[in-house]
Amino acid sequence: MRIDVLTLFPGMFVGPLDESILQRARTGGQLDLRIHNLRDYAHDRHKTVDDRPFGGGPGMVLKPEPLFEAVETLTAGDEVHVVLLSPSGRVFTQAVARDLAQRRRILLVCGSYEGVDERVREGLANDELSIGDYVLTNGALPAMVIIDAVTRLLPGVLGDAESALDESFSHGWLEYPHYTRPAEFRGMKVPEVLLSGNHAEIEKWRAAQARKRTQERRPDLLATAPSLADGGPTEPGRDEPRATRPN
Ligand code: SAM
Repeated sequence: MRIDVLTLFPGMFVGPLDESILQRARTGGQLDLRIHNLRDYAHDRHKTVDDRPFGGGPGMVLKPEPLFEAVETLTAGDEVHVVLLSPSGRVFTQAVARDLAQRRRILLVCGSYEGVDERVREGLANDELSIGDYVLTNGALPAMVIIDAVTRLLPGVLGDAESALDESFSHGWLEYPHYTRPAEFRGMKVPEVLLSGNHAEIEKWRAAQARKRTQERRPDLLATAPSLADGGPTEPGRDEPRATRPN
């Protein structure tokens, strides 16, 4: 998959995308990531990309000309899904990540300052995404969040093909708790069932824990979580033993 990013701050992308699974996906050829500096598409002496808002008010707005030229250049002759990053967009979720991961090319347009001229939204964007109900300084971090979530869904990126299928949100539920050795740590014990070797019981326990966690922490997810038949946790929430903190 190819992902292009249009930003005023290409330096922000150095580091986070050069480590771990993302780096492996890039060298392995699953992710072709190209970062573009919006300023390269401004042609006056000062490489101006922003201007004061019509009607007054604080801050600066990204001008339409460099954005239109950049997006039109980067998408010419190809089918590219253009995503504008904005706190006003629809919220980015695992379902949206799955949809983006099916596409051959996406272009992430990062805003800065007060945002972009509204004509960019009207004339260029196929989609407008927010990574949550808070305001960040510019679109670089939201772009990196989306790149990370999408890349780990690309075929061949995760070592264990199962691991993306069983994570939080993959079925609309939060994930069950994990434990590793030692079986007892500072008085906190791993639930017996996980040590039992009984895989059917372990599956039941995990399903119950996933359901319980979702009910306790994110009851809003239950409205859209799949029915039992669709692969949601299969056991009703039970008060299963969990690691406990000693008094
Ligand atoms: N004035 C804008 C508003 O009130 O919605 C905020 C602009 S913000 C300071 C600058 C840029 O950061 C935005 O244009 C967008 O590209 C990016 N951004 C900030 N928060 C974001 C979020 N939660 N999701 C996606 N992009 C965000």
